[in-house]
Amino acid sequence: MRLALHAITDELRRLKASGVASVPVSDEGIAALRSLVGSRAAAAAAPPVPAAPKAQAEARAAAPAPAAPVVVLPSGDKAARWAALRQLVLEDPVCRAKVRPGKKIVLGVGSLDAAIMFVGEAPGAEEEVQGEPFVGPAGQLLNRMIAGMALSRADVYIGNIMNWRPDLPLGPDGVQTGNRPPTESEMAHCLPYLQAQIEIVNPGLLVALGATAAKGLLGSRAFGALGEVRGRWHEFGGRPLMVTYHPSYILRNPTNRTKRLIWEDLLKVMERASLPVSEKQRGFFL
Ligand code: URA
Repeated sequence: MRLALHAITDELRRLKASGVASVPVSDEGIAALRSLVGSRAAAAAAPPVPAAPKAQAEARAAAPAPAAPVVVLPSGDKAARWAALRQLVLEDPVCRAKVRPGKKIVLGVGSLDAAIMFVGEAPGAEEEVQGEPFVGPAGQLLNRMIAGMALSRADVYIGNIMNWRPDLPLGPDGVQTGNRPPTESEMAHCLPYLQAQIEIVNPGLLVALGATAAKGLLGSRAFGALGEVRGRWHEFGGRPLMVTYHPSYILRNPTNRTKRLIWEDLLKVMERASLPVSEKQRGFFL
């Protein structure tokens, strides 16, 4: 059994190294894999025995750099593949160990047929409570940006580089205030899950919101300041990728100038996605 499992994982790693993000597997194949892995996988996926909050925080901080997961999706329609992916992420032992007790692991949301996929950084306070990306203040602004494009949240797909909120020490009230950018190893762990969402949804183009999302997709050393890559087309996995500001940046700098800069990037996205652009839309924030 060990040899068979090693052969399968070696082949999956070889495929991954050659750029394959996920592999369709028939239901029979999954059943055969399950019976091979048997109780070992069940033990690995079992919820951890609850520990005291301090011990949990220490265990999270001391957790070794996680190895990137290999995503194996079943064959089937988009909804079935997305549901299988969601289950994989929810059962991922690293995600489970990293998410704070009582908080949620977050996967993307939106149309599985979206032509446009927005990619943010990581869940924040509201997102880890609701288990949905961009539902806090930055999300409200993202909704307005999408509405400016004459689309709704349900027309696009919204994902994040990260599936959990990167943790900071809790305040005296036992609550985390503020957010920190994810580390490279945290991003490396979650990236295969984002790639799998991209593969399932198959959007025509991607929009990276902010420097962390852009670094997650283009590589940590691809640029220094966001200005070097913002407002231009790049490529991720063979798809056009526009890099723009994170909505939080606009919340911190709510001037017409910054709004216009992000809007000009979105106009480029609309044109590339062959969406109609009215004169009124062309003139927003001028
Ligand atoms: N900021 C992000 O980058 N993602 C979210 O889901 C929320 C805020």
